[in-house]
Amino acid sequence: MKRAAGALETALAQLAAAELTRVRVTVEAFARAGARSLPVLNGRPLVDFSSNDYLGLAHHPALAAAMSECAGRTGAGSAASHLVSGHGAEHERLEAELAEFTGRERALLFSSGYLANLAAISALAGRGERVLLDRLSHASLIDGARLSGAEVRRYAHADARAAARLAEAGAAATALIATDGVFSMDGDTAPLPELARLAREHAAWLLVDDAHGLGVLGAAGRGTLEQYGLGTDAVPLLIGTLGKAFGSFGAFIAGDAALGEFLLQKSRSYIYTTALPQPVAAATRAALALAQREGWRRERVLALTARFREQAAAAGVPLSASATPIQPVVLGSASAALAAQRELEAAGFWVVAIRPPTVPPGAARLRVTLSAAHTEADVDALAAALGRACGHARAAGAA
Ligand code: PMP
Repeated sequence: MKRAAGALETALAQLAAAELTRVRVTVEAFARAGARSLPVLNGRPLVDFSSNDYLGLAHHPALAAAMSECAGRTGAGSAASHLVSGHGAEHERLEAELAEFTGRERALLFSSGYLANLAAISALAGRGERVLLDRLSHASLIDGARLSGAEVRRYAHADARAAARLAEAGAAATALIATDGVFSMDGDTAPLPELARLAREHAAWLLVDDAHGLGVLGAAGRGTLEQYGLGTDAVPLLIGTLGKAFGSFGAFIAGDAALGEFLLQKSRSYIYTTALPQPVAAATRAALALAQREGWRRERVLALTARFREQAAAAGVPLSASATPIQPVVLGSASAALAAQRELEAAGFWVVAIRPPTVPPGAARLRVTLSAAHTEADVDALAAALGRACGHARAAGAA
């Protein structure tokens, strides 16, 4: 945007007129309610159905204890990047445990999933090549692909045939195909076996960002790849994030040893940033151990998801085809989604409206996310309140 008097104010006024202004809400504190920690907003505790804390680990005392014990030994901050003097024993241990958990030779820790996606795509694709992305890919995959300098083409959502057509058209060779494992705003899964076949045919890398599948899907919580029975040969690049099911912070790329070493040597978003604090890595290690030891957390969030779908359908809530804890309720306009958010907040629930450009125009929604920390009563009450809010949205639309 060219710098001109009033240009920013005009742009902000346009956002406001379209009801697309993003608003930060400050969580003032957390209130204990049974096993739950409820965020307090405007002096009032709400049941949070917007977080990615799928296994209910973010507030587990074992994570906080691991963090403070580690901080006592290592200090709070890493004080340098991994390749200068910021790499410590907790990082090493966590990487080894993540490699073991994912069944891969190497896991390389990153400060966030956003940075991991930038790193992987920009290191493995470049000018004169092509990167294929799902139309509903997470922003960090899109930004990584743009940063790579490769030609970026996006195929119709979850449509491996459309991806194949793009791979075959034109002169540029397809270097990399990237997809979310579980789509962050829709909760459905990518057609991974078909994409793996396509990538193999074109000798292209396949990257699966399993930010929302890891810890939740698969018989042992190893994510979308486990659910589909796919290993390193089929999906050489696995991205996992640690701030969602694992309740902590950070991310990793898992693959074979050569890939890990190549990314360590070449990824700018690995090399030129301060290492994740070791206490954060210690908390993640505690979470990973709990997630594996307490398989009931995964079973519980999936059972609550099924319960929510049953109850919401009975209450007349329009559901999408998602079997994961991400359950979008698409309402259409930004104003309908915001009105439903306000109505749910009045009923004691925090379900944030997701509006364009995060989702396509006309597809604003409430993105309901389930957690093992929710109670059955929370889920039932939410489904009933959503039924009422959707009824009001329909009535307002018809009026
Ligand atoms: N990938 C996907 C699919 C995500 O949903 C997110 C988080 N919204 C990220 C990557 C980014 O992860 P992080 O929050 O660790 O940067």
